[in-house]
Amino acid sequence: MPCGRCGKEREERLVHIRGTVIVALYAVALGCAYVLGGDLLHDLIEGIDRHNLPLWKAAVPLALLLFTTVAAFMRRRRWLCVACERNGVLTIAPSAGPDPTRRRLLRLLGAGAAGAVASLAGLAAAILRDRGWIPIARDFVFTPVENTAPQPRQEWAGARIRSYRRLGRTGAMVSDISLGSARIQDAEIARRAIERGLNYFDTSPDYSDAGSERLLGAAMRGRRDQVFVATKFCRPDGHLQNETPVPDIVRAVEDSLRRLQTDHVDLIHIHSCDRLDRLLAPNIHEAFDLLKQQGKVRFLGVSTHTPNLVEVANAAIDSGRFDVMMLAYHFGMWQSFGDIIAKARAHDVGVVAMKTLKGAKHTNLARFRDEASSYAQSAFRWVLSNPDVSCLVVSFSELAHVDEYIAASGTQPTAGDDALLQRYDQLIAGDYCQPHCGVCLDSCPHDLPINDVLRYRMYARDYGWPSEGQRLYARLERDARLCVTCPAPCAGTCPIEVPIRTKMLDAHRVLT
Ligand code: SF4
Ligand code: SF4
Repeated sequence: MPCGRCGKEREERLVHIRGTVIVALYAVALGCAYVLGGDLLHDLIEGIDRHNLPLWKAAVPLALLLFTTVAAFMRRRRWLCVACERNGVLTIAPSAGPDPTRRRLLRLLGAGAAGAVASLAGLAAAILRDRGWIPIARDFVFTPVENTAPQPRQEWAGARIRSYRRLGRTGAMVSDISLGSARIQDAEIARRAIERGLNYFDTSPDYSDAGSERLLGAAMRGRRDQVFVATKFCRPDGHLQNETPVPDIVRAVEDSLRRLQTDHVDLIHIHSCDRLDRLLAPNIHEAFDLLKQQGKVRFLGVSTHTPNLVEVANAAIDSGRFDVMMLAYHFGMWQSFGDIIAKARAHDVGVVAMKTLKGAKHTNLARFRDEASSYAQSAFRWVLSNPDVSCLVVSFSELAHVDEYIAASGTQPTAGDDALLQRYDQLIAGDYCQPHCGVCLDSCPHDLPINDVLRYRMYARDYGWPSEGQRLYARLERDARLCVTCPAPCAGTCPIEVPIRTKMLDAHRVLT
């Protein structure tokens, strides 16, 4: 085709400068994918409230990738006059008309392939930013976790609650096996549990970002009067602090009522109460009295994992303010723990046992599959063999739990139970930190809350609930990073021989 300037033949050439710009644009898009996409992926994996996810962090690199891919397709060959160029006239002559269809198709395919490769590279960049999650994903996604009996027995089918016990001075008769809802996903589980005679639900606003309360609210529709409902002084994003103004506490409880679709809850706990100042926080007690006057709550309780259990439990009982205590209680707890429960009974304070599966080390349960089918029931029978325990709360996360767990209701401990629980203890020896212990705490020069860190590790490793463990761990002022350079004076202080430093380092790896 002749040049419009000199009339000689022109050559068709690629305009390389645009190619350079495109490569640069791809590089910028990949940088954005690494920084912004990596951030977003991190938030997503950690379980940050989806409504608050900054989606623009995905939109920016995606828009850049799309723009660059389109630009790559639009890149055009131009007709260049070689004679004019030789004469120093750098002219790019106007395009000589449409490209042949085949060439255009090839360009389209080339640009599409480049876009696809760049997108995959962007995803890889985001994953690279979060590569610390890879071993955790391996642990939690690819390690089989035994949440449910591998071979449900026929005799469990259709099991019903066979025993109800008095919940202290509340006077309520509650099912010995009761429903915990921290990980419940299906309202049918709660409905079926009610049909089988279970009549105590434990929930909290910070379980599943208030999803647990909503789900139980839906499950109880039309049957609210059949269930004794316990929730916590809490918001979906965390516990209420001591100084929270009374109207804010009241509003938080009213939000719970709305989610639970009820005008009152039967019991409200001061949640995860570790210290006396929290147990007796005036604002919380004032809010409780106000809510009680209004008929929105009936009884006050306290739930605790604290190593200061004796102090907190005694203060709770002696104050006369608390109607119920929710405590971790399971096979192998030290003898004096029974004294606290007996004292609660003497003061007519109801006792709800939690953590009855002793950390629910389901990963370990998989190692003795023959007995795994009855482990939960053996553990429940041991807890309920203490007549001062009003009921136990266990997390029902699958429909199969309704048969499996409720089948233990009203049954008596057997010799086989004891042998099984002892064998399980040997299996988890050195890996399980007992709630309410704290013997090792004074040995740590950095005042690390060893028991809390190991409990968060348990949430992540054994409950298969890493986001909760990580959320709680992130709130600590000091963390187990300090163990890396510490000579470990904590070594040998644990009466049940937990290798503290090793477990703390593992906790840090799993929780960060
Ligand atoms: S190893 Fe960790 S837990 Fe043990 S004393 Fe040192 S900092 Fe504390
Ligand atoms: S590590 Fe041992 S001593 Fe420390 S709190 Fe746990 S069980 Fe108690």
